Amino acid sequence: MRRITLVAATRPNFIKIAPLYLCLKQQGWCEVRLLYVAQHPPGPMTTEIARSLGIPEFDDTIVLEDGGSPMRRLGIIADKVHEFITRSGPDLMPDLMVVPGDVDASLAATIAARRAGVPVAHLEAGLRSFDETMPEELNRMLIDSISDLHLPPSQAAMDNLVYGEGRAIKRTQLVGNIMIDTLMHIYRAEYRPAILDQLDLERFALCTFHRPSNVDSAQALEQLHGVLKNVARHQPLLFPVHPRTRANIEAFGLTEKFTGQDWLHLCDPIPYIDFIHLIARSEFVLTDSGGVQEEAAFLKRLCFTFRDNTERPQTIEAGSNHLISIHNYQSVITKALAAGRQIQDIPLWDGLTAERVAQCLRTFLEP
Ligand code: UDP
Repeated sequence: MRRITLVAATRPNFIKIAPLYLCLKQQGWCEVRLLYVAQHPPGPMTTEIARSLGIPEFDDTIVLEDGGSPMRRLGIIADKVHEFITRSGPDLMPDLMVVPGDVDASLAATIAARRAGVPVAHLEAGLRSFDETMPEELNRMLIDSISDLHLPPSQAAMDNLVYGEGRAIKRTQLVGNIMIDTLMHIYRAEYRPAILDQLDLERFALCTFHRPSNVDSAQALEQLHGVLKNVARHQPLLFPVHPRTRANIEAFGLTEKFTGQDWLHLCDPIPYIDFIHLIARSEFVLTDSGGVQEEAAFLKRLCFTFRDNTERPQTIEAGSNHLISIHNYQSVITKALAAGRQIQDIPLWDGLTAERVAQCLRTFLEP
């Protein structure tokens, strides 16, 4: 029987890979293993989402005892993944590794697999922001440049691979967005996250920020605070704070500025299931996250992305997403809110991506 290893590095990537794991298990034509790669062992939030998606535990876990610098981490992960692949000898190596997304661990796993002679399928291939100052952009380009099978989520990503970079069309299959499979699995219209009652919030806008350009300097954070204050004139803001953002707010002595305001409700990161339902119940979303742009578009929310570019242009074309800058955010937001929500469905974001991916993997392994 064919052996497939799915790499789940970090929680967002695990959310992406989970539907494929369940689909392959159910189909039964291959032996599938789920490898979790992270800085720490899976915590309560990861375990909780795994269980709610029907996955009792990870088959294998690689934990980095010593993180160090990002470059050191890349090396450690590549080394550990290589050890994992080869530990049982050449006859028991995986026939294929599936790597999602664009985090450092995905790049390290791709290099380790290819160096061990194991082909790689890249899930979420072809996303491009065309901004090479973003570490994720370099990771995407590098992973795609050595992957054997590209599985783009959208026509724009497919075009980047085939027309932009000349990848072979036969090794590039438009499969749709697998994160939407997970979202559709857990979404219930009647579900109300407990935090709304705790904070007595009915109408609100949801914010998330963690990109270095927005949170890594005192100046950027002060600027962000000014933006939030102005945007709060439309709706009070609920802001689950990413650990990196929280650490920087504290390090730059801005805690007082960001707390104790009746227009800004800060909280810890919110479990995925609640977070999805907060997007669905929000008046609009303000973010710099990649995944949140997609989730807002699928849930037919207006999304304002505080970045100069996006690797997800289909969310703009669908009428959900608007890029904003310090210079134009007030007019863009006011105009979009006045125009109201006319958000289109995005092709192949239909909850059936895992099945299409499974079919592509089978054809790749058993042509
Ligand atoms: N997310 C979550 N709880 C939060 C904030 C985000 O579950 O408090 C989820 C969100 O729904 C999305 C993912 O985490 O699926 C996005 O993660 P992040 O913004 O860190 O990464 P990016 O998508 O930019 O790579």
